[in-house]
Amino acid sequence: MAETTIEKAKAVLNAAQQVIILSHERPDGDAIGSLLALTLSLERAGKNVTPVLLEGVPSRFRFLPGADKVTSKIPSNGDLLILVDAADLQRTGFPVETLPRQPDINIDHHPTNTDYADINIVNHKASATTEILFDVIPQFGLEIDTYVATNLMTGLITDTIGFRTDSVTPRTLEIASELISLGAPMAEIYARVLNQRNFVSVQYWGKGLNRLEKENGILWTSLTIEDRKAVGYPGSDDADLVNLLATIEGIQVVMIFIEQIGGKVKVSWRSRPGVDVAAIAFSFGGGGHEQAAGATIEGDMQEVQERVLTATRGIISPSPEESA
Ligand code: AMP
Ligand code: MN
Ligand code: MN
Repeated sequence: MAETTIEKAKAVLNAAQQVIILSHERPDGDAIGSLLALTLSLERAGKNVTPVLLEGVPSRFRFLPGADKVTSKIPSNGDLLILVDAADLQRTGFPVETLPRQPDINIDHHPTNTDYADINIVNHKASATTEILFDVIPQFGLEIDTYVATNLMTGLITDTIGFRTDSVTPRTLEIASELISLGAPMAEIYARVLNQRNFVSVQYWGKGLNRLEKENGILWTSLTIEDRKAVGYPGSDDADLVNLLATIEGIQVVMIFIEQIGGKVKVSWRSRPGVDVAAIAFSFGGGGHEQAAGATIEGDMQEVQERVLTATRGIISPSPEESA
């Protein structure tokens, strides 16, 4: 990252008193970890910070230091608006015209990031946005204490699915090591955010598992509003089912279609190295990484499935044994 970009960000942070930080809808551990790490480090420096998430903090992440500070309402004014782990301005889930000001700082690691802020701190090679924050928080003159370290570790663990993705580099593991030294309880975070499942989530998975379909290296399923009602699942996401499906062998692309209120369908893609699903998600107005991407598409379940399946079939080469 160019020195001047960091210097500019540091200067606007120093000058600000009221800071608003946002991340993306249906937040994952990197969205929440980035949001809370930056919030707590700025608060320690005497800033007044409001961390905002459209749907608040999912229960699984409420143990994180600072989680109780998150609100789902954007303050009407602030000196500074920062977005973390959000590839584009639509990702917060709030209508863009309701944002209190143009974003000042954008800190992210998605290759599809649109550089929408005045100051864009974007590194596609970072395994998580918290990996970038580990470097820039001290460069901003802020401190990484145990609470900040815990949040940074959460982003690393969730975005790399426990250090198992291609995006993990020696630097990722060095940072994890330093975060443990700073007091981040790695085993506890790992257990809470990756291993533990609640009963209702697994019942919800059951609905999707019953509808699994497979064709020429593509595997997909759907989850409906009715499924969530039937089991009492409180979120509007897939309870991470897509990552379970991605462990099935011999598959090139996994997709999950999650019905949303208002006639929309959230699509998640996961792929094997060599199959770029970020480009396809981007073509549907979404984005992400080569091996993990998503988009929210208008239309009913059947129509969206047909469009997305047609487009996805076009990017994979059927393997002989699958097409036989
Ligand atoms: P998901 O399928 O929601 O687990 O997301 C996989 C990856 O794609 C994550 O890095 C997300 O941040 C990103 N992503 C998901 N949906 C969108 C979207 N609508 N626009 C841009 N990026 C997205
Ligand atoms: Mn994220
Ligand atoms: Mn991320």
